[in-house]
Amino acid sequence: MSRGARDASQDVPLPVAGSPGTNATDAALSRIDVVVGDITDLSAELDVDTIVNAANAQLVGGAGVDGAIHAAAGADDLLAHNRQHHPDGCPTGLAKASPAFALEARGIKHILHTAGPVWSGQRDTGVPGAPGDDTAKLGYTLEDTLLAACYTNCLKLAQQLGSGVVAFPAISTGVYGFPKPRAARIAIGHVLGHFQQRPAPELPRRVVFACFSDADADVYREALASRGQWMFGRSRA
Ligand code: ADP
Repeated sequence: MSRGARDASQDVPLPVAGSPGTNATDAALSRIDVVVGDITDLSAELDVDTIVNAANAQLVGGAGVDGAIHAAAGADDLLAHNRQHHPDGCPTGLAKASPAFALEARGIKHILHTAGPVWSGQRDTGVPGAPGDDTAKLGYTLEDTLLAACYTNCLKLAQQLGSGVVAFPAISTGVYGFPKPRAARIAIGHVLGHFQQRPAPELPRRVVFACFSDADADVYREALASRGQWMFGRSRA
């Protein structure tokens, strides 16, 4: 079979146990919300106490969601904190915590800064799973692994900090160019896997995917609705 004809949805090496419709899956799904909004100004009803910043590896602030979070929290405070506590920045795939500064007035206690991978955009290299190969099976590119690490490291840090509700933006899908449907599947697969392995009352209780547009939220909803096709079954490769 040619590389282009390979079904990228067959073998998904995501850490998800169980099968669609099991109690564990339903319980994990009930801990996820997809909302449309600015992550710095989400509805108080969502009870978000921790937000994730799609930062750069230097933690110096930037455009997009990073710029919005710096502006809302107070860029001077955030930069000074990160310079002092994380002088080496945040290597891609890892996560670092800071206080929320001015965002505390909106109930946010922690900001988790994670540096997502830049989608390389290399295609048709002839090497399955080469960086940037969007036809590769999910989980098989270096960028997939690094993006998955962003989610799992943020969730581990949130657990250590005692976060109740964590809001994630669509990490890497803006300036960093990660294909949105692929990124949504990685985000959902790893959050569900985390919840299945850590049933309530373990923290965080819930995750909110804060989408910046209706179209972005539709990508998450579609990924959730089609999860039975792409999420279950470990790699047989
Ligand atoms: P990256 O460099 O990781 O790609 P970007 O900030 O460019 O980060 O984009 C990541 C995602 O965040 C994009 O889907 C973008 O639409 C979204 N985004 C931008 N600003 C906000 C915001 N204030 N709240 C929530 N999501 C946002």
